[in-house]
Amino acid sequence: MLNIVLFGPPGAGKGTQANFLKESFNLKHISTGDVFRKNIKNQTPLGNLAQSYMDKGALVPDQVTIDMLSDEVSKNTSAEGFIFDGFPRNTVQADALESLLSKYDAQVDAMIALEVADEVLVKRLLKRGETSGRADDSSEEIVRNRIQIYYSETAILKSYYQEKQRYHGVDGVGAIDAITARLNAVVKAL
Ligand code: AMP
Repeated sequence: MLNIVLFGPPGAGKGTQANFLKESFNLKHISTGDVFRKNIKNQTPLGNLAQSYMDKGALVPDQVTIDMLSDEVSKNTSAEGFIFDGFPRNTVQADALESLLSKYDAQVDAMIALEVADEVLVKRLLKRGETSGRADDSSEEIVRNRIQIYYSETAILKSYYQEKQRYHGVDGVGAIDAITARLNAVVKAL
């Protein structure tokens, strides 16, 4: 198995790039944000619970998120590997991911981070909000709250994976295909 955590702040381009990577390397893409949004759309109990957090730009509680992620992985055990997008978002989730993958004799092989300056992120997210219909992309206050949470809770995972020598930073600014080429080069070298 080849397991990649695609990392970076909201608006870094993780979803866009995951779609290219999954095709090139035959991986299953799991976006926790997408799974939550699907549940909200279908008005499931999980969706109703998640929505109250997501609308504010806050994180959904860890155990809820971890259980959902485990479930997604268990549904796709024949996959050649996974791209995790939006997960883990803190060290509790990162530890849970390691222990989950160890059950499949696998691990996180690489965290690949898209590095993008904050002001570029705010502009990208508000622009996406014009068409995405996402409540959490529609106000500058909520967008800035999400970026703030990324720095206070999530960014620490850079050192978590650096210590395991599995962190790879990639410049996330420029043409989409140029960024894809940078990511492909990192994955091929793993
Ligand atoms: P995203 O699509 O990754 O930007 O996620 C959108 C929202 O979904 C986040 O702001 C959180 O409210 C929630 N979410 C997604 N992934 C996670 C996670 N790993 N842990 C907690 N909340 C999450």
